[in-house]
Amino acid sequence: AKQAGGNRVELEAEPCATPARPSAAAGRDRLATALEQGELRLYYQPIVRLSDHRVQSIEALIRWQHPEHGLLSPGRFLPAVHEAGLMPQLDEWVLRRACTDLTGLIASLGHAAAPDQVNVNLSTSTLATAFDDTVLAALHETGLAAHRLRIELPEDAELEALSAARARLERLTRHGVLLTLDDMGAGSTNLRYLSSLTVQGMKIDQGFVGGMLHNSRDHAVVKLLTDLGHGLGMRVTAEGVENGEQLAALTELGVGFAQGYHLGMPQPLPELRQRLAREAAASGPAVA
Ligand code: C2E
Ligand code: MG
Ligand code: MG
Ligand code: MG
Repeated sequence: AKQAGGNRVELEAEPCATPARPSAAAGRDRLATALEQGELRLYYQPIVRLSDHRVQSIEALIRWQHPEHGLLSPGRFLPAVHEAGLMPQLDEWVLRRACTDLTGLIASLGHAAAPDQVNVNLSTSTLATAFDDTVLAALHETGLAAHRLRIELPEDAELEALSAARARLERLTRHGVLLTLDDMGAGSTNLRYLSSLTVQGMKIDQGFVGGMLHNSRDHAVVKLLTDLGHGLGMRVTAEGVENGEQLAALTELGVGFAQGYHLGMPQPLPELRQRLAREAAASGPAVA
């Protein structure tokens, strides 16, 4: 498959001597059509800085507005996208859309009210491609500064895939793009990232955050990861914050950033823009 400019993604049919399994071929066609017909949507979830409750960043989360099945969450269709070999195309679409959307937020709201950054998830299969070229092209074409993009690295990335990707990630880092380890603690491999790659942040998996009030072991893991991250000079973000008690416990541990339903649901861009505009108006003009 080949990538086209703008937000469009072109998909080439695979040359095949023998006919593919009908179900797999049909699924692949359906997904390719979804990409082409604009059925994919990006939702954005706020990432809040706990020192001042500002929406410092937003995470781009994919949805599929399916004509028959309605709005599908990624758990419903990403496995099929992966199976069809279309994850790199999907991630490229997300990347361009997300860079375009943050550029638009800055233009419409101004730097003070817009988030500083946008977080984009890259899949393990995308990390096996020339994704550095894709990222730099997306930044160039959308005019977004590199330091406004944060790439979230999946916890399931294989170490071999990572070592091949390391030079590409380091190239992006040199350009100013930020890297964050996603779902820290959920997988077995990503502690290894810490010794092999310079990353600027980690997100503590929501499973530990969800358990930390009632399970002292989960609380201990959150504390350990927070101290580890800060010891390595990383930004630490807690995921899956669902209530004020969790937020208080995280603040107590010195966690700097948080994300979760308690702080804001994933929402379409216009609704996010409204929230940001409301908050900017409420905080009034900045005083020196
Ligand atoms: P993730 O990157 O760890 O994203 C966080 C997930 O937790 C999101 O699920 C989000 O809606 C959900 N979440 C946020 N706050 C809360 C909370 O307070 N409680 C609970 N229970 N959940 C919360 P979502 O949107 O369904 O995405 C699931 C996963 O799909 C993501 O996990 C990410 O791994 C993947 N994904 C989503 N969008 C993309 C994409 O554009 N590209 C790639 N490669 N993967 C994506
Ligand atoms: Mg993520
Ligand atoms: Mg996560
Ligand atoms: Mg996750």
